[in-house]
Amino acid sequence: MEKIKMTTPLVEMDGDEMTRILWQMIKDELLTPYIELNTEYYDLGLERRNETDDQVTIDAANATAKYGVAIKCATITPNAARMSEYNLKKMWKSPNGTIRSILNGTVFRTPIIVKGIEPNVKSWKKPITIARHAYGDVYSNTEMQIKEAGKVELVFTDASGNERRELVHDFDEKGGVVQGLHNCTPSIESFARSCFNYALDLKQDLWFGAKDTISKQYDHHFKDVFEEIYENEYKEKFEAIGITYFYSLIDDIVARVMKSEGGMIWACKNYDGDVMSDMISSAFGSLAMMTSVLVSPSGVYEYEAAHGTVQRHYYRHLKGEETSTNSVATIFAWTGALRKRGELDGNEALMKFADKLERATIETIESGKMTKDLIQITTLEETVGLNSLDFIKAIRATLETYL
Ligand code: NAP
Ligand code: MG
Repeated sequence: MEKIKMTTPLVEMDGDEMTRILWQMIKDELLTPYIELNTEYYDLGLERRNETDDQVTIDAANATAKYGVAIKCATITPNAARMSEYNLKKMWKSPNGTIRSILNGTVFRTPIIVKGIEPNVKSWKKPITIARHAYGDVYSNTEMQIKEAGKVELVFTDASGNERRELVHDFDEKGGVVQGLHNCTPSIESFARSCFNYALDLKQDLWFGAKDTISKQYDHHFKDVFEEIYENEYKEKFEAIGITYFYSLIDDIVARVMKSEGGMIWACKNYDGDVMSDMISSAFGSLAMMTSVLVSPSGVYEYEAAHGTVQRHYYRHLKGEETSTNSVATIFAWTGALRKRGELDGNEALMKFADKLERATIETIESGKMTKDLIQITTLEETVGLNSLDFIKAIRATLETYL
């Protein structure tokens, strides 16, 4: 078979620890034998970030904005322990945070569904994609403990010095706690556009829930921004392909999600997304089966696995012990990126290859061959637990039967 060619490069961001090991295995076994991989490579491994004063992360994000599609390996977000482990010059920021702030995007997380790994919620037949607004609210709050009697007020001062005041609470001597939250209209607008675009892309309904009946200014503003952008920019496009935008109170949305079949995109405010994405991923089976894509309002896509660098497995790998690390989410990050690249370039062969590789991955697991994390949760009776490399080789063997 002749190798598939790529006209435009894909931005490739390599990463850390066990996922870096898987990255190379996936390329060697599942990609380069079949594709003339055309990538612009950025090494986001922590050592390289430290050497370049994190410039490599910024360069990779800018390249993503230029080419439109990127694939990223999981990376270490440094903490105190990593400072000494890697002898870092500085506690570099989370690469995902840096990339997100440059691309101004929204993260969508979707579970990969296979027979034999059944969701805990019986009615769920299709994946539920969570979109989390990753700016503001409680994540950039200002808060105080009040330990004596006194008034707390919200004060807005405009450019000419005029003040607007609202009483938050008049505390008695027993005190309490108080918190100030904010969000910015452009950020909410970007979030809404990313969600509407991604719904069009996946041809799935978009649901959004907030608490506008209680929060008549704050949450209501989110509702209004979504509504206005939908009416003015997306309604016709949604109707043309037969998908809907559905707003309801957050508690009503939660209740409906639990009774649904799945198959929708669920837009969440920052805190709701933080909490609900963990609920959805554990209810669908495993973090190792969640993909994640950052979509910017201008239509730039960055694909990755939702899990981290799987440090514990890496330390075992370094000691020469066998690992059984699940590569499915990372494989699906590659297929997502290759398919998107193919779509943008009109490269049918590349899109078809992405479909086949996904099918081969799912079919391999459904035939009972899987990594040990899945063995623990599968309902299949005849299973074989494979090590990291043998699992990837088993997928290759399935893939070969389609080519
Ligand atoms: P993690 O890498 O997601 O792993 C946590 C645990 O989940 C693992 O120890 C493993 O459990 C299980 N697991 C996760 N992915 C798996 C896979 N593919 N196959 C099998 N098991 C899997 O989270 P972490 O240990 O908290 O974080 C490690 C590093 O990743 C940190 O430095 C963090 O900064 C970074 N991180 C990066 C990203 C990103 O780049 N997007 C996201 C999150 C975390 P067992 O050990 O029980 O087998
Ligand atoms: Mg969370």
